[in-house]
Amino acid sequence: MNILRITGGRVIDPAQNLDEVTDLWIRGEHIVGVGQQPRLQATQIIDATGKIVCPGLIDMHVQLCEPGREEDETIATGTAAALAGGITSVACMPNTEPALDNQAAAEFVYLQAERAGNANVFPVGAVTKGRKGAELAEIGGLVDGGAVAFTDDDNPVVSAEIMRRALEYCRMSDRPVLCHAEDPELTRGGTMHEGVESMRLGLRGMPALAEEVTIHRDLELARLTGGRLHVMHVSTAAGVELIRRAKERGVRVTAEACPQHFFLTDKKLRTYDSNFKMNPPLRTEDDVAAVIAGLQDGTLDTIVSHHSPQAPEKKLRELDLAPFGIVGLETLLPLCVVALIEPGYLTWPQLIRKLTLNPSDILGIERGTLLPEADADVTIIDPAVEWTIDIKRFRSKSRNSPFGGLKVRGRSHGVILGGEVKLS
Ligand SMILES: [Zn+2]
Repeated sequence: MNILRITGGRVIDPAQNLDEVTDLWIRGEHIVGVGQQPRLQATQIIDATGKIVCPGLIDMHVQLCEPGREEDETIATGTAAALAGGITSVACMPNTEPALDNQAAAEFVYLQAERAGNANVFPVGAVTKGRKGAELAEIGGLVDGGAVAFTDDDNPVVSAEIMRRALEYCRMSDRPVLCHAEDPELTRGGTMHEGVESMRLGLRGMPALAEEVTIHRDLELARLTGGRLHVMHVSTAAGVELIRRAKERGVRVTAEACPQHFFLTDKKLRTYDSNFKMNPPLRTEDDVAAVIAGLQDGTLDTIVSHHSPQAPEKKLRELDLAPFGIVGLETLLPLCVVALIEPGYLTWPQLIRKLTLNPSDILGIERGTLLPEADADVTIIDPAVEWTIDIKRFRSKSRNSPFGGLKVRGRSHGVILGGEVKLS
């Protein structure tokens, strides 16, 4: 059996409040522990001096587009992109064609992920059949098929009654319902955030209120039902504040943020570049500050890429016709370094908690720690390396990133996946 010793790295594992320069030992597919292990003889050594060694990163908001949109991404290409970005586990969204709304569809994801042999993939089931919002999906069958959570992303669940029943059903199996907070009546035909910039550019806006009213409704439904709510891609200051107050009141809610919403503002739309078109849209400087504050005080638990691949020809359409979304698996980590670590908003242990332990707890998956016996998923980060994002080098099938050419710092040096070394 292979015995791997990763030497001299700064080992950070929030699950055991560990942050020290030490060795990490892996035997076969599992973690042995840290420090001196006199009874073990390493068969393979990786020198991680100057690097950070942490649990494999988890991105719980990823679109892999298979089946049905293989021109944008497949499970194989998306998980290759994940590994390149230092991410060893992803949760994939149900907005496939057909929608991931039954047991066989969930099982298909596990099968394809195993065939690809890249990152671990945990399917998220649809809340309603076909993600149409009318009738609950087969929640029980999806749980049996391994669905770890439920959402109709990118469709909001318009009916409060359906949302209420989804929270009740999912509570029985202790699965979270992931809320895409958008009132579609308020955002219909919108291209960007509604405000001074949209007025100036003459583009139809999507008001912050569309997010806020939905978060408010779903928080109240979570309070009523005792179900677990997870608010996806929080982008507004008022949304952050609603979640903060609900947590204080004991509502069972968690929430996520995306780098684009704590790094960019709606001023970027002045370029008319469709790679800045996303949903939720880029907001204002006040919203960016509020999202960062929410990450700092724990209101926002996890950071996700919201990886939304779109084949190149789709994004070439005019701005108001181009689809929403950007890819993000290969830029998640460096954007967190540039936007959160370098300005001193978060420490490395705080950031790593949001990328490992917290998403693992939300999804109820046994990942995100370096405790003895855990599956040996490890990310080795070079925190100092400076590099320039080159979209031509993405492993993803799609290139719709607004970050091409951006100078960044920090990247994955390589990952260990189930004990297997995959250095980049
Ligand atoms: Zn969404």
